[in-house]
Amino acid sequence: MFTRENVLQWLAAFRAAIAENRSYLTDLDSAIGDADHGVNMDRGFGAVVDKLPTVADKDIGSILKTVGMTLISTVGGAGGPLYGTIFMRMGAVTADKTELTAQELLAALTAGLEGVQQRGKAVPGEKTMVDALTPGIAAMRAEVEKGSSLCVSMQAAAAGAEAGMKATIPMLATKGRASYLGERSIGHQDPGATSSYLLLKTAADVCQTIG
Ligand code: ADP
Ligand code: MG
Repeated sequence: MFTRENVLQWLAAFRAAIAENRSYLTDLDSAIGDADHGVNMDRGFGAVVDKLPTVADKDIGSILKTVGMTLISTVGGAGGPLYGTIFMRMGAVTADKTELTAQELLAALTAGLEGVQQRGKAVPGEKTMVDALTPGIAAMRAEVEKGSSLCVSMQAAAAGAEAGMKATIPMLATKGRASYLGERSIGHQDPGATSSYLLLKTAADVCQTIG
């Protein structure tokens, strides 16, 4: 079970990973965007961490919706609202729950990805966060359907997302700011795919503490 406590640990771990990788994410964005992805995410999750104590005793849906609303209201550009959408959608499908099974966590992540795709209209292969989330969630689904544990399933998600993140390097960007570069976007790893990998990786790290 992924409990409310685990959700809070995940958010804290992701916040720490963003802070640690702030310059890296911004450097990736300086190659194919406007050099603000690390700064944007750091600002957004800084605001999330300030807000979390007000909802930490609520159900998982309320916590995740608060994260989503905070990101949407504090981060501009494309990345912030898209991450906001992920958390809003995850919150919608986890309303009133205080712990999640592997299936429920998978359903939440799936809803988050669907939200990103509805809002941003990106499909796999366009060099965006969708390219890390899609193979990550697919790998998780394969494990959950086999009956693997939450932890094994989440580790598969992180490994799938890592491979997806790396696979953005040779891609031509056709969505978002990087698409303005055309062919010059080729050869660079997408910043949003990188932060999305960190999102699934930190969930897998939290899982390791619960088995
Ligand atoms: P901005 O592009 O407005 O500066 P960020 O730098 O914070 O915003 O985020 C850039 C990331 O957002 C990209 O690396 C990409 O992964 C993601 N992104 C941009 N547009 C889309 C889209 N339409 N769908 C999915 N992800 C997108
Ligand atoms: Mg940017």
